[in-house]
Amino acid sequence: MAVLWLDEIGADDLETVGGKGASLGELTGAGLPVPPGFVVTAGTYRSFIEEAGIDDELFAAVDVDADDSAALAEAADRAQELILETPFPDDLREEILAAYDEIGTDTDDSSDDGGAFVAVRSSATAEDLPDASFAGQQETFLNVTEDRLLERVRECWASLFTQRAIYYRQEQGFDHSTVNIAVVVQQMVDAKKSGVMFTSHPSTGDPTMIIEAAWGLGEAVVSGAVSPDNYVVSREDRSVDVTVAEKKVMHVKDAETGETVERAVPEDRRDERVVTDAEIDALVDLGERVEDHYDEPQDVEWAIVDGEVFMLQSRPITTIDETDRADAATDSLEETADPITGVTDGSGSVQSAQGSDATGTDSGEIVVDGLGSSPGIVSGPAKIVTKLDDLAKVSDGDVIVTEMTMPDMVPAMKRASGIITDEGGMTSHAAIVSRELGVPAIVGTTNATTVLNDGEVVTLDGERGAVLEGAEVEPEEETEPVEEVRPQSPVKPMTATEVKVNVSIPEAAERAAATGADGVGLLRTEHMILSLNQTPEKFIEENGADAYTNELVQGIRSVADEFYPRPVRVRTLDAPTDEFRELEGGADEPAEHNPMLGYRGIRRSLDRTDVFAHELEAFRRLYEMGYDNVEIMLPLVNDAEDVHRAKRQMTKAGIDPEKRKWGVMIETPASALCADELAATGIDFASFGTNDLTQYTLAVDRNNKHVADRFDELHPGVLRLIGDVIETCREHDVDTSICGQAGSKPDMVQFLVNEGVSSISANIDAVRDVQHEVKRVEQKLLLESVR
Ligand code: PEP
Ligand code: MG
Repeated sequence: MAVLWLDEIGADDLETVGGKGASLGELTGAGLPVPPGFVVTAGTYRSFIEEAGIDDELFAAVDVDADDSAALAEAADRAQELILETPFPDDLREEILAAYDEIGTDTDDSSDDGGAFVAVRSSATAEDLPDASFAGQQETFLNVTEDRLLERVRECWASLFTQRAIYYRQEQGFDHSTVNIAVVVQQMVDAKKSGVMFTSHPSTGDPTMIIEAAWGLGEAVVSGAVSPDNYVVSREDRSVDVTVAEKKVMHVKDAETGETVERAVPEDRRDERVVTDAEIDALVDLGERVEDHYDEPQDVEWAIVDGEVFMLQSRPITTIDETDRADAATDSLEETADPITGVTDGSGSVQSAQGSDATGTDSGEIVVDGLGSSPGIVSGPAKIVTKLDDLAKVSDGDVIVTEMTMPDMVPAMKRASGIITDEGGMTSHAAIVSRELGVPAIVGTTNATTVLNDGEVVTLDGERGAVLEGAEVEPEEETEPVEEVRPQSPVKPMTATEVKVNVSIPEAAERAAATGADGVGLLRTEHMILSLNQTPEKFIEENGADAYTNELVQGIRSVADEFYPRPVRVRTLDAPTDEFRELEGGADEPAEHNPMLGYRGIRRSLDRTDVFAHELEAFRRLYEMGYDNVEIMLPLVNDAEDVHRAKRQMTKAGIDPEKRKWGVMIETPASALCADELAATGIDFASFGTNDLTQYTLAVDRNNKHVADRFDELHPGVLRLIGDVIETCREHDVDTSICGQAGSKPDMVQFLVNEGVSSISANIDAVRDVQHEVKRVEQKLLLESVR
């Protein structure tokens, strides 16, 4: 049998039908309302490649060095070509089409020729693979009819060999030949409304069901294209707390082509509540049945057609950890949530947790002070680093004391228990990198390298910005990161405003992804380039353009992989010439009196379009590899002219701006004042770079300690610019976001949510608190609107 019907399948058939197929079969068997369908089994795929004799060639083709992107691209092309060009044996073709016909007779949702519209989805299986979903690309084709069915099945098989899938398996050390793929073919429900449902509270395990709903097909909710309505239902008394969202788009089946298309929701239905009380009742009944069946809370995808509820998918909620379960009886999520304090609960390290306990720090004398830029309290011997050779003397648990950190120092920064610098502000390299590594840090002390002695034991309080004499914290406790004991729950409070995270070093991607953020709001590429130790021009001259592109592909890919399918907004290069000057080739950099006002960001890119082209080539390759979650962000633009010029370069590099998500940073007053014109260039988003926007609006150099007290992102002038841009962008349907340091501050979060910003990107250690702050402000707004 090449195919198995869903009602012939149980949860144990994982190896035959993959995770998706097994789950749908299990639900069907339990009598739940699953649309009818069948699975082309993994064994069928296997016999297809074996009987055609392409198996050996296939596995040989993909046995490549995954870090060599040219070889990887070639491997993926060859493997996919082998599958896509091998014809179906007649008996297999007939069996699949006969099964399809049976679905057709089973439905009234038929195309003109009587055939059903079906969804075709890959369902990967792999021995020993902890999460088989990663093994194959999650290929899904909606509204497929008979004429395209076989082609789509073959495309699902081929999705096992996209560049991303090959790379992932290679990285994880999985043998390509042990991974198989099944294909689910299931009747499409032409949903009028749909969404997801958590059968218990996803974070606490409380007996509360959470339903998210929007108009049209469920893809819009699952992919995050729409902000759905939110219904919180008590399972005890079935009381419902309703939050109706403004639903701007919906995914529907195009009547002519049968394709799924995104459409604007008609004005009058945007603010209309999606599910009725009776439908909520039906969903909750269903939720209870499915949770009873599996004996654990489930995350369900559902759809409603003509009042009838269907279940499209159900998976266990993996995010309720044991600690939370234990707490659930007494604590609600809201009660356990801290206000923004800068020290996070459960998300930081023991160091930061000790921030409140270690009141004993008052006993030591403050010997140096500066800006507390990464929270946590640690003690350790100071190691003065004045040149790169000194890094060798930094051992685990030491405190690095240096003028300013550089990309070369990152391995030592990871070993260190703390970092203290003479120079730099809250947005300096040392501050950003230490926060991302979760290492407590103090920057801008002016004199730490001269006042502290090499080997002297100090205590660093990254919250207060104080360095104290002696050891105030036990070293063993310091080095045990909380994450290993209790991972931060990836489930966040549900908010209409997205909360994302900033990443500047690819090494921090895993930690950033574990915050449960909705994506990366800013991935800085400077670190990837500066760590080459040569200016881009020099590196290209010595190693070739391809090597340069490759470095960017590797760095961006490691983050895009960690977050996939959550979006990752990657900024094109923006380093001032004084940072390049330190590198090999730096002598050729122009001499500038004021690099902050000079040759950086889009200005440099548009001047050196030859170098910019190699950077854009990295994006093109990533798209080709299947990283459709990568977005492009242009820094330091002033006006529409800058954007049009950059857009032309994108097109020239083979990137279609109509197909990809891209946007600009609002970092100069000019860009804020020209928001109208910028919005008309075709951008998808505008993101506030408040570090620069503040320095340029207030004429306060962000790195100048003499005016540091004047650096105020909440200055009315800055806020007025931001507020006006949000309003203009809303009129043009352009998303707005913040990715500057201020996005981690509660006052700014309040201001932005009230103004209607689409997303906020925060530092790793602030994500959880920002999520709660956003939720608090959103609830307040809702309450005010109904009072
Ligand atoms: C900003 O200016 O706010 C920003 C995010 O960019 P950077 O700090 O890298 O200049
Ligand atoms: Mg900036």
